[in-house]
Amino acid sequence: MATNSKKTRSSWHIIYSGDYDKNDTDEEKIKRQIWIPCRICYKEFDELTLTARFCATCHRGFCHNHGSFRGRGKAFCLYCSHGE
Ligand SMILES: [Zn+2]
Ligand SMILES: [Zn+2]
Repeated sequence: MATNSKKTRSSWHIIYSGDYDKNDTDEEKIKRQIWIPCRICYKEFDELTLTARFCATCHRGFCHNHGSFRGRGKAFCLYCSHGE
């Protein structure tokens, strides 16, 4: 019996909470409208902070606390913006 009457207004309803997959990067998932955990929160603080931002260098998701935007809308995570 199908009781699937609850409709989500946003298409952002999928959450990926697994590890980073280099064959299907966070960037690719975000482009498909899938929420990604901030990899820095996850690794450093064991916290799950969902984000729709990804790093232009390493393609991992990061939250607004753990990255920066530079230039023409490109975003870099804390690791990549410090690693220069
Ligand atoms: Zn974070
Ligand atoms: Zn990065």
